[in-house]
Amino acid sequence: MFGLIGHLTSLEHAQSVARDLGYPEYADQDLDFWCSAPPQIVDHIKVTSATGETIEGRYVESCFLPEMLATRRIKAATRKILNAMAHAQKNGINITALGGFSSIIFENFKLDQIRRVRNIELDFERFTTGNTHTAYVICRQVEQAAPRHGIALSEATVAVCGATGDIGSAVCRWLTQRTGVKDLLMVARNQERLDNLQAELGCGKSMALEEALPLADVVVWVASMPKGVEVDPAALKQPCLMVDGGYPKNMDSKFNHPGVHVLKGGIVEHSLDIDWHIMNIVAMDVPARQLFACFAESMLLEFEKWHTNFSWGRNQITLEKMEQIGKASVKHGFRPLLA
Ligand code: NDP
Repeated sequence: MFGLIGHLTSLEHAQSVARDLGYPEYADQDLDFWCSAPPQIVDHIKVTSATGETIEGRYVESCFLPEMLATRRIKAATRKILNAMAHAQKNGINITALGGFSSIIFENFKLDQIRRVRNIELDFERFTTGNTHTAYVICRQVEQAAPRHGIALSEATVAVCGATGDIGSAVCRWLTQRTGVKDLLMVARNQERLDNLQAELGCGKSMALEEALPLADVVVWVASMPKGVEVDPAALKQPCLMVDGGYPKNMDSKFNHPGVHVLKGGIVEHSLDIDWHIMNIVAMDVPARQLFACFAESMLLEFEKWHTNFSWGRNQITLEKMEQIGKASVKHGFRPLLA
């Protein structure tokens, strides 16, 4: 059995979901309520592969909200993730994806040092960040969507916002070493990590976001920002492809500007309907088939019986592992979202 640990994107989102799901008593609750709410299994899932095999899974809602980080409720945030992991393990789940901010909190607050949650000794082999598949899907989205919008990648400048992150660094590796983009602009706040990435890649320029945006033909957004930033479409090149893989989204603006094409990044579409309800509440256009690539990674690991933490730690994603998970993704009927 596979598992997905997820969370909602904001307090407002959590309140509206509670209202929609028929829990009006939760809909008016504030952040403190969510800080004390325990994890819950809220969906039972069945997925059938393109090969015909069917597997079962569970969705664990951690009750984490990004506002917990913004308001420095760090203890609550870390407790949410550890409790959700313990809940998944207690329920016999073999391989569970740490969706969205779950893996970021795990890494940033070094939760690998806390193995024991009450009477459960966490077995980290049963968890994966899902970031290898996410990085692979984002790169394939760039490679497939850019030519559709008249952008030749061998001549293109690509900016990666969140370049030094786990997903961002893998995307930079792939785009420079596999795709062969002309120029890479790397955006993040910590200069030392940017310098290290540049040394590893042997190419790329680090730049502030405001400087990079007007120069880019393609922008990949994979920064761990609890809230999106405003982007002025008039300051962008045309055509420009924006692939926003953030969860919550990195871009706050929803714009309809000729020549600027925005794609939901890190999302796959399955070739068969999935028996579940959970994607209705995260605004997928086709909730029966579309899902986050990190969640799909735990499904792939279960289909392939690779019950291991395939994606783990920070900045260790190799091109070989991206290819390996990419092959499994195609084999089982997932494809990167292109519209
Ligand atoms: P990491 O924490 O590993 O990396 C985050 C990156 O963002 C770092 O480069 C960090 O560098 C940078 N960053 C953070 N804040 C800012 C800022 N204000 N301006 C510029 N750069 C910033 O995160 P992951 O790679 O694990 O995840 C990245 C994003 O992808 C998250 O939003 C996450 O929720 C999402 N995600 C999506 C998935 C999907 O299936 N679609 C799956 C998993 C994650 P620095 O701190 O130096 O600025």
